[in-house]
Amino acid sequence: MFHTKFREIIIEELSGTIAKDYVSEIIRFHRIQASPGFHDAIYYVKEVVDRYPGIRTEVEVYPADGKTRTWQWTAPLGWRVADGELHLVSPKQELLARFAENPVTVVAHSQSADIVAPLVYLEDGSSEKDYRRIDVRGKIVLTSGRAQEVQQEAVYKRGALGTIHFPPLERRTKQPNLIPYLGIWPNAEEKDKVGFAFAISGQLGSRLRRLVETEPEVLVHAKVDAELYTGEQRVLTAVIEGTEFLREEIVLIAHLCHPRPGANDNASGSALLMELARVITTLIKQGKLPAPLRTIRFLWVPEFFGTIAYLHAHPELAHRTISAINCDMVGANTAIVGGSLNLHRTPDSLPSFVNDLLEYHLDDAAKEPQLISPDGSHQPFHYEIKKFDWRSDHTIFIDPTFGVPCPMLNHWPDAFYHSNLDTLDKIDTTQLNRVGYAVLMTILTQAYAESDDAMFLASQVHANAHTRITQTTQRYVHEAIEIIAQTDQGALLARTLRKAMESIRQVTRRESVALQSVKVLCPHDSELHNFIDTLLEDLAQERQEEVRKLRQVEDLLSRSIGYAPLKRLVLRKKEREAKNLCPRRKFQGPLYFSELLRHTNPEDTEWLRSQQKNQPFFVEVLLELSNFMDGHRPLYEILTVLEAQFGEVANIDTVTRFTKLLKELDLIEIEKVKSA
Ligand SMILES: [Zn+2]
Repeated sequence: MFHTKFREIIIEELSGTIAKDYVSEIIRFHRIQASPGFHDAIYYVKEVVDRYPGIRTEVEVYPADGKTRTWQWTAPLGWRVADGELHLVSPKQELLARFAENPVTVVAHSQSADIVAPLVYLEDGSSEKDYRRIDVRGKIVLTSGRAQEVQQEAVYKRGALGTIHFPPLERRTKQPNLIPYLGIWPNAEEKDKVGFAFAISGQLGSRLRRLVETEPEVLVHAKVDAELYTGEQRVLTAVIEGTEFLREEIVLIAHLCHPRPGANDNASGSALLMELARVITTLIKQGKLPAPLRTIRFLWVPEFFGTIAYLHAHPELAHRTISAINCDMVGANTAIVGGSLNLHRTPDSLPSFVNDLLEYHLDDAAKEPQLISPDGSHQPFHYEIKKFDWRSDHTIFIDPTFGVPCPMLNHWPDAFYHSNLDTLDKIDTTQLNRVGYAVLMTILTQAYAESDDAMFLASQVHANAHTRITQTTQRYVHEAIEIIAQTDQGALLARTLRKAMESIRQVTRRESVALQSVKVLCPHDSELHNFIDTLLEDLAQERQEEVRKLRQVEDLLSRSIGYAPLKRLVLRKKEREAKNLCPRRKFQGPLYFSELLRHTNPEDTEWLRSQQKNQPFFVEVLLELSNFMDGHRPLYEILTVLEAQFGEVANIDTVTRFTKLLKELDLIEIEKVKSA
């Protein structure tokens, strides 16, 4: 197997120390998407990678004009910033913030300014009602609201001159000195309406707020030298050519953008990709590793927008790419940063073996003492397996338009994320080593896969599938026992267990698709395919057994409260209706919520914003809902997949309301089917 043959030489060559050195170079650049600093960073990475033997790099250029539409996404505008200073003028003179010290202090996409004006305070400022009792015209708004929304409400609509942002209560309590990274993200139409914007620490923001509340007038002087313009986005690719499966690729992606320093987010992922490219090309050059059977492609992008542009320009990659991995925040020193490394699996709309392959190697990395770097942490490796989270580039890969399975590796929580405090001292060479090893083994296993690799992998996926199916049953058994203990409600019990049976069906479907996907690694090996087919039959039987178990649990618990178990699930009215509706997407690429909110009515906007803020996985539910809208699956069927995946946040009310909203925006069509 690849794993046993090459493990030792890979561990020997891989260096978290070299990767951290790349991090220290990347964080010198202020890397906002479509800005000169980002382009400098891209050419720095290219220059280093070009020195590796046998790798081909290319920079591709896409518009950054604030109006080019790619699928559902509008390109960002180009932005440059040279300087910025914020001074308190009255009641006393004081320097408040300086770009030269902290680049994040000038909010991304801020316009130039040289303005002295009075300061007013608005706690949030992102909705209509915040402005009922205050006139912000000709003033500067101090707020903890989101930069994009406050600029829209206060500056574009109501004539405020600019905005100053400090973190909301929770974040500023934990980190009083943290200056947050914020962006305005205007499109071309909004370009000339944008005001200046500063970000300051919670401590300073709270002090300014007290001044506004106690002094008759507070004057500040804002000076910014910046510009929004029609610019360019750049994407860097590097390719190590495969020798046998010429039309098959494995992809690694990391976003290179974000403000200086942005060490963990995401100099870490970008630097790790550089190191992995170095290891592979070096080992091939030294003859310790043969050339790969499949092509390995590296991508360094401006987050979301670069990936959208690149995948749109290369539709052929949708068919060629076996899988991808997104490395976004992978170098954190857990002792300082807290949290853990998380493997976010692909969503249930796109099951794949790659999740289990990556998990296997993370587990191996955790046990391997040789991966502890001499200059790194000696702590145990904390990693967790999590469900799909939408907030990075993998969301574009997994959308059915492209359909490439892409898990994400991401460190969370990270208290220093998106701030001036995401600095080099938070980066751990041991962490880079461990994550680097797991990623490298995962992509190389695919790039070099032979029958024994695929057989082992199929068996691994099958074993994990078994665990995940029985765990699903177990979760519902627990819930059912709780229901009886607390409410004595036979009807609720019956409903819960019937929902459980639907979930078991969906989970088994997902696991079977993942197992089936192993076949792609050995397309011509019929014996292997037969082996996988027997494992698939086994999963189908397993489902029957789990359902039988649930029926017995239902019988036992019902009898204990003298309730006659139902023969089948009684659907609610909306659920019955959803059985007859088949939605079909008319749009391509994933939905982009900031863009969507430009077209929704005020009521829906309020609903989407508040749910997004207060409901974990709300956006994921909506994206997955749209991923399943293929014109064949009834809405009720989609609901059951979402319930199995996300639990209560996926409910019939949310699903029907969002479907209606997409229909009103003409993004989907809905066919009525007669079947019950
Ligand atoms: Zn990131």
